[in-house]
Amino acid sequence: MPTEQAEVLVLKKTKLGETDLIVTCFADSGTQVRAVVKGGRKPGAKLGAHLELFSHSRVLLYKGSRLDTVTEAEVVEAHRDCLQDPEHTAAASVLAELLEFLSRDADADPRLFHLTDAAFHALGQTEIPGLKLLLAASLLKQASQSGFMPSLRTCVGCGSDVADGSDDGNGNIQAMGFDFEQGGVLCHECMRYGEEAHDDQGYESPVRAPRSASAVRNNGRHTGSSRGAHRWGSQPIPVIPIVSVTLDWLETMIRSKYVDLLPFANSDYQAIAEPCLNISREWVATHITRRLRSLDFFCSIS
Ligand SMILES: [Zn+2]
Repeated sequence: MPTEQAEVLVLKKTKLGETDLIVTCFADSGTQVRAVVKGGRKPGAKLGAHLELFSHSRVLLYKGSRLDTVTEAEVVEAHRDCLQDPEHTAAASVLAELLEFLSRDADADPRLFHLTDAAFHALGQTEIPGLKLLLAASLLKQASQSGFMPSLRTCVGCGSDVADGSDDGNGNIQAMGFDFEQGGVLCHECMRYGEEAHDDQGYESPVRAPRSASAVRNNGRHTGSSRGAHRWGSQPIPVIPIVSVTLDWLETMIRSKYVDLLPFANSDYQAIAEPCLNISREWVATHITRRLRSLDFFCSIS
């Protein structure tokens, strides 16, 4: 009998017939697994109890041509805290949907398994007001691990170092930008050049755009923008202005372990979460998948 043992994260559960389930999982090999759980929806079903949504489980699979069948399952970590209320469930669903997409057509980076396992664990430890910060960090980490890491210290326009931030040395803040299509930060000079080019052509300057992606999404219509223009929902979105502190946070989110981010999420750093989540949302939309429905839902209830 062709069987295979795997550790999996349960990303989605779909009803099948009267009492069966199909679970969509991400295996620690980087492969997506879709498997039938016979009788998985029966009350007290043992297999089903070990394959709850978001759980990290060890399974034995009978390999099929289209679908596998789960013959044994054992929970490693249930991540029950991710199901404690609608907000936590919605946040964890965003990561599950993105991982399901990343692994749909081809094997994904196996390191996404432990990264997402750790993200589910951290989300469960986060209080509701801190979920946005944790979710922003998780999306950026998943994207970066999949080969889409934004450039946060080197200008994507000219290659200059922007590590010194947006201060001109005399205490004056200089406008920098974040260009989603080009892949990251624009230094003050490239931002200004873009502004002049846009003005010359009668386009609205990205520098005068509202100072957050959500504001741009709600208010901006920048059709005809020659560079970096793309769409968020039905609205075109230009290059957005960005300040040093947001860049610093984006970098911290990508490079820090969840255990080090948790104290920030659960304290007074929640104000930074909104712009970072908007940027991570647009980053994923630009480079990975147009739209995460679960992220729309999370934002609608948060
Ligand atoms: Zn530049």
